[in-house]
Amino acid sequence: MTVLVALGGNAMTAADGGASPEDQIAAAEIAMDAVADLVAAGVDVVITHGNGPQVGNLLVKNELSAGVVPPVPLDWCGAQTQATLGFVLMDALEPALARRGVRRPTAAVVTRTRVDQDDPGFSKPSKPIGRYLSRDEAAALIEHGQQFEDRGSKGWRRVVASPEPREILDAGVVSTLVDAGYVVVANGGGGIPVVRDPDGRLRGVEAVIDKDLGAALLAEVIGAERLVIATDVDHAILGYGTAAEAPIAEVRVTDLRGFAAQGHFASGSMGPKVDAVCRFVEQSGSIGVITSLSNIVAGVRGESGTVVVPG
Ligand code: ADP
Ligand code: MG
Repeated sequence: MTVLVALGGNAMTAADGGASPEDQIAAAEIAMDAVADLVAAGVDVVITHGNGPQVGNLLVKNELSAGVVPPVPLDWCGAQTQATLGFVLMDALEPALARRGVRRPTAAVVTRTRVDQDDPGFSKPSKPIGRYLSRDEAAALIEHGQQFEDRGSKGWRRVVASPEPREILDAGVVSTLVDAGYVVVANGGGGIPVVRDPDGRLRGVEAVIDKDLGAALLAEVIGAERLVIATDVDHAILGYGTAAEAPIAEVRVTDLRGFAAQGHFASGSMGPKVDAVCRFVEQSGSIGVITSLSNIVAGVRGESGTVVVPG
């Protein structure tokens, strides 16, 4: 069985959001312990991951050093974080496998995701990225064509497009490596966003792709039997934050779509996870799971988390 595990922010940063190298390595070690249990259970695992805090750090470096070294575009930041997090995860996974007596090679692949040039996200950027800036700092960057939103007392924040992932261009490499026995890290941050120009050339764009929606598409195209979204809560919950919270266990995809339409899942957090598992189940007829990192083995067995089934 092939399982795609999508790791959330808590798998790559400290509980307080800290993203120092030490924080990231410590979080990766915990996450890869859980993933190693899955590999030890005989599953072929593909790992993908978020990259929000890491890209945020790179953007700060861009800003602070702009007068000294040329700032790099957002797609380059995506590529850099795929590479860095890929090797950090491999470094953590290999000893975790060795402790379990499992011999499997690991690989990290830099992958591109094609988006549409005319995606509505580009005309109305809405995804906040990077740190809050003062009005004057933002004004300087607006001069350079960036878009910012006034967030009141917190300051100004850059917004970029979050286009729909259309095609995971390097999915074939992932499948080939899985077939050859590798545990693969791929498509971090939803993939490096690129568009195809009329002459056929690919071009990186200033955008971020939702990592869970990218994971759903990758899982579908590599023919994964399960998509597992590993986050910091055990379930998607109805009435989240109210006195009447009700965790969702096994659920049919049509029912989960109905709950989403009723507004149960916040748009910047649980919403895209629910959308991602629904898409995967609808497109593949397989099973999608949302659960906490420590429960992924039971989640794959359908014994833990929100288990989304066709129907
Ligand atoms: P990750 O960083 O793992 O990708 P997020 O932090 O974006 O995940 O989303 C997980 C968070 O979503 C939970 O910690 C919880 O605070 C929030 N959340 C919002 N709505 C819900 C809901 N209906 N059920 C469960 N969690 C929810
Ligand atoms: Mg998070």
